[in-house]
Amino acid sequence: MPSDHDVARCDTCSARIRWAMTARGRRQPVNADPDPDGNLAARTDHLGVLRVRVLAGERARLEGGEWQAMPHVATCASPPPRPRAAQTASRPGRRSATVRYGTWRWGR
Ligand SMILES: [Zn+2]
Repeated sequence: MPSDHDVARCDTCSARIRWAMTARGRRQPVNADPDPDGNLAARTDHLGVLRVRVLAGERARLEGGEWQAMPHVATCASPPPRPRAAQTASRPGRRSATVRYGTWRWGR
């Protein structure tokens, strides 16, 4: 069971997460608590860095000191923002188009 000292909170859904380092050196949020459905093996290295690797192929099982982790994006209640600016921009455009259409069709 991993300790709680590196537990953080997701910016969008406030869930308990940990920032892990992937084998490729990228930071990835994982759920703070072990999850038997997770596809990652997590382990804190000698520098105190939480490292994750994908459970797959010849290393599909947990090895010494590892715990099973779920990528937070898989369970996040508020996934990373979509192009929200594009959505809000299109809505008033559509509305004004409808108004213009109605005015043209039924006005006068
Ligand atoms: Zn989240």
